[in-house]
Formats: sequence, C-alpha cells, structure tokens
Amino acid sequence: MSIFGRYTCELCKEELFSEGFFCQKCIKELTAYLRMDRSEEEGYYIYSLFFYEGELKRLIRKWKFHHASYMVHPMAELLEKFILENKLHLESLSYVPMYRRKKWQRGFDPMEDLAKVLARRMELPFITCLTRLRWTKSLYSLKPKERERELQDCFRADPFQLERRLTILDDIYTSGSTTREAAKALFDAGYQEFFFLILSR
Ligand SMILES: [Zn+2]
Repeated sequence: MSIFGRYTCELCKEELFSEGFFCQKCIKELTAYLRMDRSEEEGYYIYSLFFYEGELKRLIRKWKFHHASYMVHPMAELLEKFILENKLHLESLSYVPMYRRKKWQRGFDPMEDLAKVLARRMELPFITCLTRLRWTKSLYSLKPKERERELQDCFRADPFQLERRLTILDDIYTSGSTTREAAKALFDAGYQEFFFLILSR
C-alpha cells in the first residue's frame, strides 16, 4: 500500500522500492504456504492454492473481518503471480457470492472484488452467474452434515450463455459443501465447463 507516495510491504511494513504490495522476503515466506492442489469432483475440478495457516490466514482474516476492502489489491497480485507460475489456464472469472444482505452488512463482497480486480489485471472477462438465495450460517462451527443441510439449494445460476470455460473463485475450502452446491446450480443452468479456484484449503 502507498503511504505518502511510498510503498510499504503489506506484511512487514518495510519500505518497497518499486510499486507493489509485498517485499521479496515476505513473498518468499508466503510461498511456503503454497500447496497448489487439484482434486476432481463429479464433473469438475477444484484447484486450491495455499494452506490456510500462518501469514496467509492472517491476510485473509484481515481482509474479510476488519473492513479492509483495499486488501483485494495485494491478494489479486499474489493470486496472479501463483496462477501464472503454475500455468493455470483461465478464460473468464466469476466468484461464489455472499448473500446480498450479508454483503450490505460488511460493505463489500471480498470474492466479487477479487474476481473483478483479477479479471482486470489478467484481461479476462468478469462474469456474474451465481446468486446466493438466502442467508446461510457461517460454516466454520458446523459439522460436515450440518454444513450440507445449511447450504442445500442456496445457489441459483443464470442460464448458460457463455462460450468460455468459467473459473469460479472462492476463499476457503473446508468440506466442499459450498463448491458442491455451486456446481449443482451451474449444472442445472446448463454450464458444463468450469472449475473452482480456491485461495486456501
Ligand atoms: Zn515484507
């Protein structure tokens, strides 16, 4: 982030000598959380980039729970770097949305912001296709079965009309209930080629 025209590292606050969000040392430390995992579900893939721990967890929590909407920029920089390094092929970008009332409460939807900023950086089309139909409890404290019940049929997808493979961003993968429900909505709406890109797992 730039303060008085100077750039400082988002993590250690050291001064940066060129435009950016992280110093070389911190980027190297963040790389330690990289896991770059791919798993196959019924008819779609899930890519996850980082372990949800340490500095990376701190960044995500700061972004989501401390009204730090500007954090989308360092997160997008980080994500783009690892997408390119791992040669992931993206054709368009979308996201798993929050419920509109929750977004209104927080003031922003981190994944919507991330998909938009990343799409701009990587010159990809930004697509909105999923809607969360109702309020859902935070999954954090729920058991896998309860998560499934909580999220059942909570998404709707716009009718398919896109001739590009869709990438859907989400922040944290735990039991897979969210991706499963989102995938169900996409399949129901006629989408066939899509994959999820999850920040951390
Ligand atoms: Zn640093």
